[in-house]
Amino acid sequence: MKKTDAAFQKCTNPDCGAEFDCGQAIFKCPRCGELLDIQYDWNKIKVPKKMSDFGRRWADRDNKSDFSGVWRFRELLDFCKDKYRVTIGEGQTILQQNDPVGKYVGMSPGRLYLQYEGLNPSGSFKDNGMAAAFSHALMTGAKSCACASTGNTSASVALYAHSCGLKCTVFIGSGRIAFGKLSQAMDYGAHTIQILGDFDDCMRQVQDVCTRLGLYLLNSLNPFRLEGQKTIMYRIIEALDWKMPDWIIVPGGNLGNSSSFGKAFCELKQLGLIKRTPRMAIINAAGADTLNDLVNNKKLVWNGGKVNQKIIDDYYAGLTARKFSPHTCASAIEISRPVNLKKCLRAIDVCNGVVRAVTDKEICDAKAVVGKHGLGCEPASAATIAGLKHLRREGVIGPDEKVACVLTGHPLKDPNVTVSYHREKQGQFSNPPVDVPNDLDKIIRLIN
Ligand SMILES: [Zn+2]
Repeated sequence: MKKTDAAFQKCTNPDCGAEFDCGQAIFKCPRCGELLDIQYDWNKIKVPKKMSDFGRRWADRDNKSDFSGVWRFRELLDFCKDKYRVTIGEGQTILQQNDPVGKYVGMSPGRLYLQYEGLNPSGSFKDNGMAAAFSHALMTGAKSCACASTGNTSASVALYAHSCGLKCTVFIGSGRIAFGKLSQAMDYGAHTIQILGDFDDCMRQVQDVCTRLGLYLLNSLNPFRLEGQKTIMYRIIEALDWKMPDWIIVPGGNLGNSSSFGKAFCELKQLGLIKRTPRMAIINAAGADTLNDLVNNKKLVWNGGKVNQKIIDDYYAGLTARKFSPHTCASAIEISRPVNLKKCLRAIDVCNGVVRAVTDKEICDAKAVVGKHGLGCEPASAATIAGLKHLRREGVIGPDEKVACVLTGHPLKDPNVTVSYHREKQGQFSNPPVDVPNDLDKIIRLIN
């Protein structure tokens, strides 16, 4: 590591703690194989004294970095020079206060907020992370990149890659990707490779391919992506006039978001920019509930970074032995070996977090409620609403607490699940189309 750099990469294993400069694309500690973090020497960065100073930049629409919902907060992810910063206008998202959805889950009026990350350029929260990771890719001189994806990552990577002139290969599991997302990857020009396997298989392959061919890896293993995703939390606080919600609720798949959000709050507290962190709830789908099982049943904890690896190894060996493959309609979180598991445990530690799992039926019903009363979302996003309903029923979250659910993707990401739910009357909120003869009187009678 160059001692003059304010940002550096650091191994998350406390027994190792190796440090590397940010000019390298390594993604895992070369010494011990653990996840890497981006750390900052805050004494070398001029961080604004209060959060509202970041909000002022909104007014300066001519400056691309100020217009970006990621780079507006650049001092909090200050790892690259201005010339490398990539933006395509990500992070213009809104936090919507929503009482009808609040009523569905049992919240008092005025207490539930929905953070619509589907309003990003590629339609999902991934764009926050890609703005940061592609900046790092340019910084390292990358010419070609790759990712494994359940869908949203491939769409976002493909969009950012062509806007920066990088070649792009995406790996997807065969038949395991929502149509909206697959259409984006192809339309944005990615070299799309379908592997006969699930996401976990793709993840293993892409890491080896990137090492062998020297491609820049864009999965959430990439710590720079998680730096960009921190800004989702900054924007929630910004939308609440710089006040903290009591709870953040996020879907749990590869656990990049939860990891990133925990890091964001930890750093803001270190910097004295906030006084307390919100609590966090991470919601798995029941058909892909590794985190829920490990935390609630196997009692896996962060333990100051000394995570009990044997619990994880035994659990994964069990999955392999019974040939387990995750299954949920929420394809974005259909992951059984989450890459950021340990960082997520740290986030749970920082934010006094809880984990729950919800069924596909609960997810689809919640999604229909968000569709009817909000701006709509993809299935994985609705897991947050279904999870909140659980936590309200259990009394873990009170009706008057201020809750922000992160809706990670746009409803058009996965039209198949939506159409099946309504047309096949799969749930209590199904709203199927009605057939009528091509006859004016009959049409009018039907409408009346
Ligand atoms: Zn290490």
